[in-house]
Amino acid sequence: MNAQILSGPAIAEEIKNELQPRIEALKAKGIIPSLTVILVGDDPASQVYVNNKHNTFIKMGLSSQVERFPSDLSEKALCQRIQALNQDPSVHGILVQLPLPKHINPQKVIATIDPNKDVDGFHVANAGALMIGQPKFIPCTPYGIMKMIEKTNVTVRGAEAVVIGASNIVGKPIALLLQAAGATVTICNSKTKDLAAHTKRADILVVAVGKPKMITGDMIKPNSVVIDVGINRGEDGKLCGDVDEETAKEVAGYITPVPGGVGVMTITMLLVNTIEAAEKTLTTF
Ligand code: NAP
Repeated sequence: MNAQILSGPAIAEEIKNELQPRIEALKAKGIIPSLTVILVGDDPASQVYVNNKHNTFIKMGLSSQVERFPSDLSEKALCQRIQALNQDPSVHGILVQLPLPKHINPQKVIATIDPNKDVDGFHVANAGALMIGQPKFIPCTPYGIMKMIEKTNVTVRGAEAVVIGASNIVGKPIALLLQAAGATVTICNSKTKDLAAHTKRADILVVAVGKPKMITGDMIKPNSVVIDVGINRGEDGKLCGDVDEETAKEVAGYITPVPGGVGVMTITMLLVNTIEAAEKTLTTF
């Protein structure tokens, strides 16, 4: 058996087409959705992510600014810049690219972003809103994962969902979204005993760990949906996920490839959140 591939670019294209009328409606009112990304330091992976986001926004006819700062920027200076962007009505979304240099506290920086412009959905107000089932901005990667699961024939309500990884940006929010959709959710972490016992009963398995190919076909329930969030370099130097695609696709019903899976969806949902932030400015006043 060969799993159906859940193609990130194909699903992203559908979502982008659906966004066009919303962009046109905003433009008709003189509003161009605008994102400002702040990049501190010269982490090579962050440079790639930021460039991809910028290019996607420009291609969609939206406004995108990238503000680059040296790695010795002070936390105070960074927070002051965010406060200025909070006050600027032409900026609808603010994103601080993580990770930040070690001397800067990311929680403090994220807390400085106006929750109405927090298109990453990481501010504690947005995390709390998600937790009580009234999300405002859903973090982009989990949001994209839910859109991918919608493309399968698996009913989330009543399904067994297992999430491996409990980070604030992927594991915890995807667990909340799956739970809100009616799944019975288990969250595994590095201390989990007998990981395979959990993964083998998952109708929906989300893997967000950061360990190349750690989930193999023998750990997967037949016909399940396998979402691979990991972005790693394998021993051969090639990009790979946390799931061993070769063996997993023999067992799963659906699988997301790496590359060509969740990563593309993350940027697409950033478009969605930024457009939503721009639309909200029309209803706030
Ligand atoms: P993270 O903050 O490093 O968290 C990793 C999680 O995995 C932690 O909860 C950790 O457990 C758990 N873990 C580590 N080893 C484990 C093991 N052997 N068994 C079970 N759980 C284990 O990672 P993250 O930021 O969520 O990112 C995870 C991966 O997704 C990375 O490869 C990252 O590059 C990728 N990512 C991709 C996208 C995308 O758009 N495609 C977006 C974000 C992240 P503890 O809590 O016990 O430490």
